Amino acid sequence: MKHYIICGPPGSGKGTQSALLAEHFHLRHVSTGELLRKEISEQTDLGKAVEDLMNRGELVPDSFMLAMIRRVLLETTGVEGVLLDGYPRTKPQAEGLAELLRELGMTIDLIVQLSVPPDVILQRIQHRATVEGRSDDSVEVLKQRLKEYEEKTVPTIEYYRAQGAPMVDVDGTPDVDTVTKRLIHAIEKGSLEEGHRAGRELSTEEA
Ligand code: AMP
Repeated sequence: MKHYIICGPPGSGKGTQSALLAEHFHLRHVSTGELLRKEISEQTDLGKAVEDLMNRGELVPDSFMLAMIRRVLLETTGVEGVLLDGYPRTKPQAEGLAELLRELGMTIDLIVQLSVPPDVILQRIQHRATVEGRSDDSVEVLKQRLKEYEEKTVPTIEYYRAQGAPMVDVDGTPDVDTVTKRLIHAIEKGSLEEGHRAGRELSTEEA
């Protein structure tokens, strides 16, 4: 069972790309944001507990997220692997994931970082707000989500980079098809290559 992580700021296209990659590689797409939104729409205890936090663009406490990811990983069977979209977002979440994977005798096969500049993020989120009507896609809430990303998720990515985790950076700015092709290439290359080096930039020629 392969384990991939896709990370990037809000509006980087993680969700769209994850769905396409999951189909291509026969993976289970695990979007923690989607799972939380489902809990909210079903008004479960977890949903009620996290609704206000999410609407303010804040992160859900690590203990909730760790319990969720444990449940998801333990119940997943019948696929080639798992694509984690939006998890981990903090260092304790990364540590919890490492412990869980150790228990399962598994490792992280590749971490993909999708980079997108702030002006493109703003445009995409404003567009998505009109299409999907997500309550956390307002400009005001986006500021908070970006702050959480910079303060907690960027250091998490740096933590993986410092560990020499298998990692690749992909420019998420081009059109959906181009980014998908680059991601597929990165994942295929990542699974062929032993000792994929941390933080390597995928060049245009390679993609
Ligand atoms: P997303 O759909 O990935 O943009 O996530 C939407 C919201 O769900 C985030 O702004 C957080 O409030 C919450 N969320 C999703 N994943 C996590 C996570 N791993 N840790 C904490 N909060 C999360």
